[in-house]
Amino acid sequence: MIALEQALLARLKANEAQSIAFLQALLRAPSPNPPGDTRPAATLVLDALRGTGFDPTVIAPQIDMPNIVARFDSPLPGRHLVLNGHMDVFPAADHEWSRSPWSGEIVDGRIHGRGACDMKGGLASLTLAFLHLHALRQELRGRLTYTAVSDEETFGPWGARYLFEHHRDLVMGDCLLSGEPSSPQCVRFGEKSPYWIAITVRTKGAHGAYTHASASATKIAGRVVRALEQLKKLPTRAPDNLLAMFRDPAIAQQVDEGCGVGHAAAIPEITLSLGRISGGLKMNMVPGECRIEVDLRLPVGLTKEELRPHVTRLMAKFPEAEWEEVSSAEQMPNWSDPDGELMQILRRTVRDQGRKAPVPVITLGATDTRLWRFAGVPAYVYGMTPTTMAAADENIEVEEFLHVLRVHTLAAARYLMAGA
Ligand SMILES: [Zn+2]
Repeated sequence: MIALEQALLARLKANEAQSIAFLQALLRAPSPNPPGDTRPAATLVLDALRGTGFDPTVIAPQIDMPNIVARFDSPLPGRHLVLNGHMDVFPAADHEWSRSPWSGEIVDGRIHGRGACDMKGGLASLTLAFLHLHALRQELRGRLTYTAVSDEETFGPWGARYLFEHHRDLVMGDCLLSGEPSSPQCVRFGEKSPYWIAITVRTKGAHGAYTHASASATKIAGRVVRALEQLKKLPTRAPDNLLAMFRDPAIAQQVDEGCGVGHAAAIPEITLSLGRISGGLKMNMVPGECRIEVDLRLPVGLTKEELRPHVTRLMAKFPEAEWEEVSSAEQMPNWSDPDGELMQILRRTVRDQGRKAPVPVITLGATDTRLWRFAGVPAYVYGMTPTTMAAADENIEVEEFLHVLRVHTLAAARYLMAGA
């Protein structure tokens, strides 16, 4: 095992320049979603896989949204680890950036480009880890599957969800390692769930001077939002071990260091964001219609089924309003064992790389890892610092990328070798 790890580390060391160049190339292959065309990035991934003799499976229910799956078996039987990353990224508004969002430029030890954090850094790392492990497969045991998907950023149906619905056998395994952003200080083992509702308020409307003639749809919408804020006070029933973890000041501090100040406090909270509001035609008219879109996030310990009656009760006070759920039915908070085996391996591996052991953390957003958890597969996330994720001038430290690559490679090897 030690010889294998040394061989892997030696390969990674000898190939650092190529690894960085691969990430730069991925960042220079735009794949914003929307529209979600990942073909330029997929071509790079396919070239890398085919260059080492793989014949990857490409599943493209939408021609411009390919999903790539490759796998290998080691000579000795063992467990099956799945690696997962996505190729699409958030869109980027050029004028907000100080250089092109697709530059892949390295400045002062940091590599820039849309997707550096989320998640071309993690995707490049998993791709290279897969290829290095494949090169030494004679020394390994078990099976390693690699998945690079499209259509993740909008919870779209053509990426990992499609694979689960139509090619489940290709993506299932005993455990999942994702390279979504987590920061080197944290391992994500669960996530909150979006619960999105759209509300339309309709009134008669009137001349702006005749406020006695009609109720205002926009004013009612404002009252609806204030009423919905009460949902944040609902009790939740997170498992005690999770709550205890996030109340530990040392853990909370490390979570905030890695994921940004305020992250730890937001984990057990129900949050509400008024994502969009549109109403009224003209300043001097009493608006007859207003639509608001509300982004609620449910913590671990609260289900949609528990929340829904409270929304119904609050909305019943507003006869002018209709409401509907717009988040997908399958969304719900989810988590794997915070003390699970891959969590422990990741902690040990990071420590061996000379950094502080990462702490377990719940993701505030949602990722494809939920699909594996729903299917009963433990899923853990280790990746880049998310501080500039989805922001202008997204970037990561080159050194951090190389660190994550070492951790992905060694942790995958350790997981496979530990299974008889
Ligand atoms: Zn992502």
